[in-house]
Amino acid sequence: MDLQSGKLYWPTTMVNPPSYPKLEEDISCDVLIIGAGSSGAQCANFLSDQGLSVVIVDKRKTGEGSTSTNTALIQYAGEKSFVSLSHSFGEKVAARHLKLCEEAINEIERACQKLPIDPDFTRRDSLYYASYQADVSALKDEHALLQKHGFKVDLWDKQHISEVYPFQKEAALYYHDDAEMNPLKYVYGLLEKVKAQGVMIFENTEITGKRFEKDYAIFYTKERREIRAKHVIIAAGYEDADFKVERNATLSSSYAVITKPINDFSSWYKRTLIWETARPYVYMRTTADNRVIIGGMDKDTAYAETRDSKIRASKNKLIEEFNKLFTDIQVEPEYYLGAFYGGTHDGLPVIGQYESYPHCYIIMAYGDNGTVYNSVLANIVSEKILKGSSPDMEIYLQSRPTVFQ
Ligand SMILES: Cc1cc2nc3c(=O)[nH]c(=O)nc-3n(C[C@H](O)[C@H](O)[C@H](O)COP(=O)(O)OP(=O)(O)OC[C@H]3O[C@@H](n4cnc5c(N)ncnc54)[C@H](O)[C@@H]3O)c2cc1C
Repeated sequence: MDLQSGKLYWPTTMVNPPSYPKLEEDISCDVLIIGAGSSGAQCANFLSDQGLSVVIVDKRKTGEGSTSTNTALIQYAGEKSFVSLSHSFGEKVAARHLKLCEEAINEIERACQKLPIDPDFTRRDSLYYASYQADVSALKDEHALLQKHGFKVDLWDKQHISEVYPFQKEAALYYHDDAEMNPLKYVYGLLEKVKAQGVMIFENTEITGKRFEKDYAIFYTKERREIRAKHVIIAAGYEDADFKVERNATLSSSYAVITKPINDFSSWYKRTLIWETARPYVYMRTTADNRVIIGGMDKDTAYAETRDSKIRASKNKLIEEFNKLFTDIQVEPEYYLGAFYGGTHDGLPVIGQYESYPHCYIIMAYGDNGTVYNSVLANIVSEKILKGSSPDMEIYLQSRPTVFQ
């Protein structure tokens, strides 16, 4: 799959990225992980910390999947509101999901502190503003439900917003303790850490075949090398569909622009993450080297040519949207991209466990908070492998009951 196009920013922040060999022999392990993006790297981290023998393979150079275009706003609140998830799954399940996401942010922060490469993890609050007057009452309902479940979030009115930001909005939710980071450094940091713990990492190693036996699976590389494993985690990102098509999964296109560094952020209150109630929405954050990342303008296409034909127009539109909010900050685009972007119909990420794939777990961390979902799912799958069960597995299994079914 042609995952993305454009001029990417994160690779420029890694001067000498680590590299790994291609698999040239047959091997065996406790757990084979297919995909060295943030899903695979986080699984490897959990499992190797517990002493399992782990092999990771990636068909590209590591980190060249969607992880290299991830704009890395690290939040627990997603595109589907708590209210909406409660309607689909019940309040208890929706609340548990959000709590797991909130805890995953803490987990990512703890992991970052132990990595040999600093991923610039920084705590940031988030402003989620009403794009239209009609959205205000939904924000009020969302706030009441979040408060009921103990989340740290405030409801701001028009006056409060205009006191601290240079723009006017009717209302907003102000979430405390979200975060931002450099997703590529995070993945390389995790890979280097687990490599030092004995994990074997192979890049330019594509999985093209499989065979299942009673107690193990054998996966074959394009060059017919064999990897025998007791458990297999398929963490191939939006290319999971090359292994198994999941009908809850969706694929669309998204865009982002990264500006040249800015001298003065004094009008940008606490350098918050900012997004809005409109769908598709526009979002923005700042970076460790004082750039602005503006993203969104999602388009409902899964054709690379159609996606790419809209990159330049989307770049201009994203800058225009930023200028509407911050008239005093002059931004000049330096990097820009269009990329495929996965979601699910029902709004929750998916762990796929299929009869046709014994010994395997397919991680589909699809949705706007993919990095946080990766961490939640990696934790659950690792717990299942290590202990035989995980109490939260049912929430995410593809077989869960959903309104979509
Ligand atoms: C434009 C954009 C903006 C985003 N912004 C955010 C954000 O702000 N916050 C957030 O949390 N998330 C965001 N996301 C989502 C986030 O990027 C993804 O959820 C995350 O990167 C997915 O990681 P992954 O490891 O599952 O997939 P990937 O990073 O794509 O890794 C999968 C790997 O599997 C490998 N692979 C595939 N098939 C095979 C095979 N047959 N054999 C071997 N290897 C294989 C690929 O080469 C790839 O490296 C964004 C995504 C996009 C596209």
